[in-house]
Amino acid sequence: MKSTRGPSCHEAASPVTRGLDPASPRTWTRRAFAGTAVCGALGARFRMLPGQAPASEWLAVVLGSIQDGGLPQAGCYTERCDRARLDSHYVASLGIVDPASGSAFLVDATPDLIRQMDLFPGAAFRARASARQPFDGILLTHAHIGHYLGLALLGREGLGMEPTPCYCSSRMARFLTANGPWSLMVDEGRLDLRVLEPERPTRLADDLSVTALEVPHRDEYSDTLGFVFQGPRHSLLYLPDIDRWDQWDRRIEDVVAEVDIAFLDSTFYSAAELPGRDQTEVPHPLIIDTMERLEPLARSDRSIVLTHLNSSNPVLDLDGPERAAVLAAGFEVARAGQIHAL
Ligand SMILES: [Zn+2]
Ligand SMILES: [Zn+2]
Repeated sequence: MKSTRGPSCHEAASPVTRGLDPASPRTWTRRAFAGTAVCGALGARFRMLPGQAPASEWLAVVLGSIQDGGLPQAGCYTERCDRARLDSHYVASLGIVDPASGSAFLVDATPDLIRQMDLFPGAAFRARASARQPFDGILLTHAHIGHYLGLALLGREGLGMEPTPCYCSSRMARFLTANGPWSLMVDEGRLDLRVLEPERPTRLADDLSVTALEVPHRDEYSDTLGFVFQGPRHSLLYLPDIDRWDQWDRRIEDVVAEVDIAFLDSTFYSAAELPGRDQTEVPHPLIIDTMERLEPLARSDRSIVLTHLNSSNPVLDLDGPERAAVLAAGFEVARAGQIHAL
């Protein structure tokens, strides 16, 4: 992992109120760079002198930020879910793309994949998606519904994807090979399974690599990985699911300190959130605990981005006190359309 510090960039697809200072060197807002122009502006800012220029302009695009069950969630008619019926929220996922060449990687395949593919910037991506080969690779964290069901939309009844590398753990690869409909996609050659060895960097492109980290999480069908991506300028941790920070064999503070951008499991704000359900059945770190552990790092020149928000999470309320507290402590809240430079 490289720990070069520097600015990252965000562009909200919808008018998300941001709590960070727009003048901050690490943050650009929609107000500063309208629409997709942010990518050009970003490229200009970081472009190096001839001869030093990296081959690609890798951008991490937030494709969604909601827990597996979605927002609104089935059968949920709270005020928050009803409000969300008029808006577009997608399940947590990340795209990594070089808009000029169209090279692209998908991190987790959610049930919202069809609309999420529209968030990849650049005509080159659309051209290759139309040719049924949208991705240079698909990376999967684990076999819970929000993280792999979208693969089915790339199969015979949907996109009819050409053979594509699919990076995952060995147990996840066995699960996909042994169970339909995924096994058909493997048999047809659409999913070219590549097992990631934990802790070992794997090269995805000349100037992009990924390192898989094993994390403790409910493992009914597969084990669970987090990913650290290293681009030419910045590193990014993607960790949408983990049971508890203190069940990990490493300190989350140390892991976050090593990267420039960290997307963290923020399913629940507090334990008060699921009345009538035993929260030990759905263990996730609580945002209030994450804030306590990581606030000093959130106030440094790195981005700590809360993602994988459950439909019960009050941080989803744009005008709520919980969201205000999170932003005031230096954290960011993921929203589809945001962009970070790698
Ligand atoms: Zn999940
Ligand atoms: Zn999960």
